[in-house]
Amino acid sequence: MNILKFGGSSVATPERIKLVAACIQKHLKDDTTITVFSAFGGVTDDLILMALMASREDLSYKEILQKNETRHLEAIKELIPVNAQSGILSRIKTEFNRLETLYEGVYLLNELSNRTRNMVAGFGEILSSLIIAEYFKSLGIAALSVDSRELIVCKNTNDKIQVNYPKTNKNIESFFADNRSKLYVVPGFIAKNDEGVPSTLGRGGSDFTAAILAAALNVPRLYIYTDVNGMYTANPRIVPQAYPLKNVSYEEAMELSHFGAKVIYPPTLQPLLEKQIEILVKNTFSPEEEGTLISKSGKHNFRWVTGITHIDNISLVNIEGSGMIGIPGFSKRFFEVMHQENINVVLITQASSEHSICIAVKDDEAPAAKLALDEAFEAEIRNKRINPIQIEDDVAIIALVGDRMKSHHGLSGKLFSALGNNNINIRAIAQGSSERNISAVIAKKDVTKALNTLHETFFEVPSKELNLFITGVGNVGGKLIEQLKRQEIYLLEKLRLKVRILGLSNSRKMIFDENGIDLENWKNLLEQGEETSQDAFFEKVKELNFRNSIFVDNTASPVIASTYKNYLANSISVVTCNKIACADDFSNYEKLIDLSREYGATFLYETNVGAGLPIIDTLKNLVDSGDRIQKIQAVLSGSLNFVFNNYKGEEPFYKIVEEAMKEGYTEPDPKIDLSGIDVARKILILSRVSGLEMELDEIEKDNFLSEESLNTKTNEEFFDFLEKDEYQFRELYQSAAQNKAQLKYVAQLENGKAKVGLQQVGPEHPFYNLNGSDNIVLFFTDRYSVQPLIVKGAGAGADVTASGIFADIIRIGKK
Ligand code: ADP
Ligand code: ASP
Ligand code: MG
Repeated sequence: MNILKFGGSSVATPERIKLVAACIQKHLKDDTTITVFSAFGGVTDDLILMALMASREDLSYKEILQKNETRHLEAIKELIPVNAQSGILSRIKTEFNRLETLYEGVYLLNELSNRTRNMVAGFGEILSSLIIAEYFKSLGIAALSVDSRELIVCKNTNDKIQVNYPKTNKNIESFFADNRSKLYVVPGFIAKNDEGVPSTLGRGGSDFTAAILAAALNVPRLYIYTDVNGMYTANPRIVPQAYPLKNVSYEEAMELSHFGAKVIYPPTLQPLLEKQIEILVKNTFSPEEEGTLISKSGKHNFRWVTGITHIDNISLVNIEGSGMIGIPGFSKRFFEVMHQENINVVLITQASSEHSICIAVKDDEAPAAKLALDEAFEAEIRNKRINPIQIEDDVAIIALVGDRMKSHHGLSGKLFSALGNNNINIRAIAQGSSERNISAVIAKKDVTKALNTLHETFFEVPSKELNLFITGVGNVGGKLIEQLKRQEIYLLEKLRLKVRILGLSNSRKMIFDENGIDLENWKNLLEQGEETSQDAFFEKVKELNFRNSIFVDNTASPVIASTYKNYLANSISVVTCNKIACADDFSNYEKLIDLSREYGATFLYETNVGAGLPIIDTLKNLVDSGDRIQKIQAVLSGSLNFVFNNYKGEEPFYKIVEEAMKEGYTEPDPKIDLSGIDVARKILILSRVSGLEMELDEIEKDNFLSEESLNTKTNEEFFDFLEKDEYQFRELYQSAAQNKAQLKYVAQLENGKAKVGLQQVGPEHPFYNLNGSDNIVLFFTDRYSVQPLIVKGAGAGADVTASGIFADIIRIGKK
């Protein structure tokens, strides 16, 4: 005998019911089949909502009732031929008349008892199963309708269900012995109590109906047909990377369902476990998919963690005080109060100091818990031996579940560090003695991020997601986007990194897309974006709350540099080519380094010096491995190098500067390069990375520009002065030419002092042959004292700068 259960989403529309029929016909080919149906998707919610509305004298329940009646009548018209409709149409209308009378009663009495609530809630299954049975008949399949209220007997107190198995099993056995049919249609969810009053098996209880039937009839396997491909590693609606599990043990399934995996209603597993009946969870809409087999342990694959789940809408109840220490019977009293109030305790933690007990309950039960506990411990609270009970709302429980977790060390550590690295605060933790479950209580707003982070951590997903928020899409930013787009497949295949851009902004507009901005069309999308505001950009990044978020700054803006601290303090990594932050007051720079350490967010700025050249990384590696820096000598301005390499005293100096600017070798304000301030900032950053607490004004700077040109406000003015000062530049050039030397703008750090300035460099010097916009750095260290370690190559330009930023992003991805 086959027993199949179809959930609310499987029968939500006539089209879906047709698919259900096709699926059932396959099963009918090999055996007699019992089918259990839920109400059409969403109907039970409506039935309960209408009862609540009626009890509050809200007459608009009538509209909802009308909508539901129409929905059912329309389904009949869609599924059943006209000549066979009248009987079922009038039957359904009768049921709706009954419902109407019940709601009127609730409305007139202003009262909704549990009994009435359960009675109306069960109508959905009666309606759906009647219509579906009639539909089968119209297909030529004789279907026998069964009233499960006549079979299943249960006690139902405040959503806690106790089935009277002796009576229930007897009813089921004799019914199916006496009533023979090829196909049975059974409404799920509904039952009656010992007094014969209609009741239900609790929300989601159709699974339970099917399990009770399966156990009573001793079938080897129960099929649960739903709207997903089985039991997943995590809720697939929240974690897109989740995948269906092939095998799960009863215990794991129980743990997963208790902790929120709604795909199975928790009490379902008990009767099946006792009789070792397998459950196959399958997708009604993709029956060819394998599904998940729930069976006794040992059958399933080798893995440490089976699934990750969560329960929303939780509150923490905390009792605390010195008066609790060493007093026997304290916990007993505490839990007795919970029991008397019929409050379900979802999770318990107690510190070994016995100074506090913290429990998690459903949030709608928290006020009652507080009231009852404050009253029960009134004397202790009055004597200040314990504090008044504290309630913390808006929390959720997340749980790692797996049979084999107990034999693997370090899983909790991994859980905590994964959450910690993403700035998810853990309010309480619990691990059952079976060690099949590690639970943590976190803020409700962090649930999606936590589930995705943990999934990435524990399920060896083929890729790690990096979520970028990029500010500045000009020369460098534009190139970066191009490079990211080009390398997308490579990153995924070779490095297993899925790099997505979720936010983009320039000085005017900003856009966000949590599914990743379409990089083919980003320019148009950005044009249609909302007005930029740095605060709003940050708030949005924070609100989206994605794991592995990285803020990328491709600008030269001090305003944007001043926002890094906000990102880092929210565990969002920062990658920047903007030098302002690292060249700011030492205390501000240090603050960023500290924040990055404290919040586990990476702060990388390789492109601050030498664009894409690995200068900072090399220096960090030298320092970290214990080498001591004796001297750094460098040509760090690609723009100045370009200018002095091309200036031969013929074409005027300002023209060469203009050309450098056009090529993207200078900052948007070329004065920043020509004044030497840019080079000073770079050597300052290198000094700091070497371990020195240096400030910008401590750097000796030798100017080759006139004071007036340095005081100009606009680029036009500046160029005017450069043109006027041409004779000075010519003199500089000629003097160097006479000495057979080249002009180089050199930065140097030695004995804790740094200086920058124009120098004549002779042919014997490694700087002499530096071409184009190249940079060069000589590191003289204890290890490299005679021959310096040299880093040399293109040190300016949008493409290489973008590739340096790209490399920093990848560094974070590889962590
Ligand atoms: P039905 O109407 O078939 O009873 P439910 O809505 O009760 O279906 O349960 C199926 C839903 O359970 C899925 O659509 C999914 O959103 C949710 N769910 C939560 N956790 C899991 C999980 N670990 N695996 C599969 N589904 C899950
Ligand atoms: N229709 C009921 C509910 O929505 C039972 C079920 O779907 O399993 O809770
Ligand atoms: Mg369900």
